[in-house]
Amino acid sequence: MKTPIITIDQELCTGCGRCREICPVGAISGMPDTPHEVDSTRCILCGQCVQICSGYDSANETFATSRVERLKQRGMLPTVKEPLFAAHYRGDINAVVAALQQPDTFTIVQCAPAVRVAIGEEFGMPYGTLTPGKLSAALHALGFNRVYDTNFAADLTIMEEGAELINRIKNKGRLPMFTSCCPGWVKYVEDQHDDLLDHLSSCKSPQQMAGTLFKTYGAKLDGIDPAHVFSVAVMPCTCKKFECERPEMNSSGYQDVDLVITTRELAQLIKHCGIDFTSLPDEAFDNPLGCYTGAGNIFGATGGVMEAALRSACEMLTGTPLPSLELEYVRGEEGIRRATICHEGVELKVTIVAGLQYVGSVLEQVRRGEADFHFLEVMCCPMGCVSGGGQPKILLPAQRLEAHAGRKAGLYSHDKSLTVRKSHENPQIKKLYENFLGEPLGHEAHHLLHTDHQQNRRAV
Ligand code: SF4
Ligand code: SF4
Repeated sequence: MKTPIITIDQELCTGCGRCREICPVGAISGMPDTPHEVDSTRCILCGQCVQICSGYDSANETFATSRVERLKQRGMLPTVKEPLFAAHYRGDINAVVAALQQPDTFTIVQCAPAVRVAIGEEFGMPYGTLTPGKLSAALHALGFNRVYDTNFAADLTIMEEGAELINRIKNKGRLPMFTSCCPGWVKYVEDQHDDLLDHLSSCKSPQQMAGTLFKTYGAKLDGIDPAHVFSVAVMPCTCKKFECERPEMNSSGYQDVDLVITTRELAQLIKHCGIDFTSLPDEAFDNPLGCYTGAGNIFGATGGVMEAALRSACEMLTGTPLPSLELEYVRGEEGIRRATICHEGVELKVTIVAGLQYVGSVLEQVRRGEADFHFLEVMCCPMGCVSGGGQPKILLPAQRLEAHAGRKAGLYSHDKSLTVRKSHENPQIKKLYENFLGEPLGHEAHHLLHTDHQQNRRAV
């Protein structure tokens, strides 16, 4: 049996209660000053407890478990120097190292948008420094055969999710439609609000769409037997480790994503291999599955999925582009935001929730049939994925906020700097539909890129 994804080390926990307070689903319990525990049946694996925990293996104390043993138990590299905190997640880096050493294995890696604005912090760069070129260069230097990008699949998600929203609006389908790219949110609906499952978009997350494509379209382009492909995702998220292991995530005929590592785990591997990240010359992501637009890139911030969807859906619905691509009214901070978009006679109402603890009243509104909006974006983490459980850890609250703001600013400035900023204008996405998928929501797209939440729930 695999180690649980989120655990509290009983020997290191001081019982300060910070994790209990921050947990959005009340999954952590314990009396003051005594070790706390995670209830795995409630936990949605967002990893916010890991980010806030301050009980660690201080060198001044004696512990029954040695540091060497603790690193091993946690699946971490023996060279890791940072303190080991009580609340932690399962490390998976050793399996990546093993795969990279297998001569018969074709290794493909993808990186989520929020990784490129945070990994520099692990190497002393200022908060939010944008490093897509160094990230790609580091992954090539580590020996991955293909360095692709989750942003490509974020563009693809918009094609499918946008088409699904339009279809639901035109054909009086279940509304409001909920986003489905945050696996913690999906798990929460499955676990605690399963009467609302049919509101969730049937789209898989960008991570899973990318994984499916790597072992089908990607393997075909490279002339590789998909059985020899090992697919790794670098994510800001601890819950993505759970998502890739879901039994239904195998539309390619194999487990679509073999392994997820976090931003921090990748930084530890780069250090372990002696790569000087800050001096790496920029390299591009590989084509075609590394080609992305500004819309795909903003998925990493709260409101980003909504903004990307609106940029395309409004144009698809009316045939006319929005007058501006800076949709400031859906951007913002932790909490609930609402907006109405009026464009060429079409009115779209949207709601955005950043931080799962805020979603309760919105779901009650939906349940009572009083939700007067079409589309709901929910991200479990306070500012979306830039503040995910697998991102660089910052203990001081003021600095943490500064880091989140810097990472978010990095994503939007990257979006602004790109020439193509709408998902449906991504040239490689167009080619993918022409040469492989057919059309959005078509037979092949449905088989590879969508899932059935009701059926998944029944299978548990
Ligand atoms: S935050 Fe860390 S030290 Fe504090 S109760 Fe939670 S696990 Fe224990
Ligand atoms: S908001 Fe992002 S990082 Fe946080 S649980 Fe959801 S997908 Fe993961």
